[in-house]
Amino acid sequence: MTSTIELKAKPIVESLKPKLKAQCEAMSVSPVMKVVLVGENPASRVYVGHKQKLCEEIGASCYVESLPADISEEEFLKVVEQINNDEKVNGLIIQLPLPSQLSHLNIPELVKPEKDIDGFHPLNTKEIFSNTVTEKTLLPCTPKGILKVLDHYKIDVEGKNVVVIGRSLIVGKPISLLLSNRNATVTICHSRTKDLESFTKKADIIVVAIGKPEFITADHLSENQVIIDVGIHKKTDGKLCGDVDYQLALTKNPKAITPVPGGIGPLTVLSLIENLILTTKR
Ligand code: NAD
Repeated sequence: MTSTIELKAKPIVESLKPKLKAQCEAMSVSPVMKVVLVGENPASRVYVGHKQKLCEEIGASCYVESLPADISEEEFLKVVEQINNDEKVNGLIIQLPLPSQLSHLNIPELVKPEKDIDGFHPLNTKEIFSNTVTEKTLLPCTPKGILKVLDHYKIDVEGKNVVVIGRSLIVGKPISLLLSNRNATVTICHSRTKDLESFTKKADIIVVAIGKPEFITADHLSENQVIIDVGIHKKTDGKLCGDVDYQLALTKNPKAITPVPGGIGPLTVLSLIENLILTTKR
């Protein structure tokens, strides 16, 4: 019987918040981020609320530019350009998802690289490809949050078999490369992977970013694994859950597992604020 470590975000957030606050106070102007929010997506509102709360707590500002769901492409691009050129704004986020008339746009390249606190612009992500990431790199926030968990709980990935499920631009792809840069042996699984269990069962560490509530069950797992659950969903009873069925996963005695809520989510927001401080310093 192993005793599973719950990889909670709280101790990490609580230890880093005072540092971020001190960094904000030491600046001649306090950091300002703007979130472009198109339409009324309730989940997006919740995420933006989390960003605003943490900004307030550390002495930064987060303003929301709410745009109507039926905004034209031309109007939308005009707003983005205005914010890109506004010297008082240090960080710009385009909150996803966007309505269908805008979804074809190349979002990672719309935000100026020096204001790209989401870390999606190719000029920022190329440092992941070239393995030249430094403390100043604007890393995508969820992968950055995952690295924080691994570092805080001293989970070494070198030589480990890591299975990443999901290959999105914001989570799956960048975290796969970042872990490979740390000398993990990384396998990327996705919606067309055949016999997913045969990969996940052999892994030492599994990163799950699928977007399907409680998809990963005990059948996918073996004993003593580290499980990082990126998913976040609201169940019909109002409770939150991840892409992993937490209770079923526990029956396999994982070495460690992130809870939902209270795992990767808060660290994603924290990483965003760290990126805002980086862009403000620049
Ligand atoms: P996405 O929809 O862009 O990508 C999902 C990926 O999962 C795809 O690459 C797809 O190939 C793969 N996939 C889908 N079905 C699969 C299956 N049956 N088997 C194997 N792979 C499958 O999602 P995303 O943006 O990467 O987000 C993933 C999840 O993480 C979502 O639940 C999202 O809400 C959540 N998320 C959470 C945070 C956070 O802060 N905690 C941040 C970003 C995303």
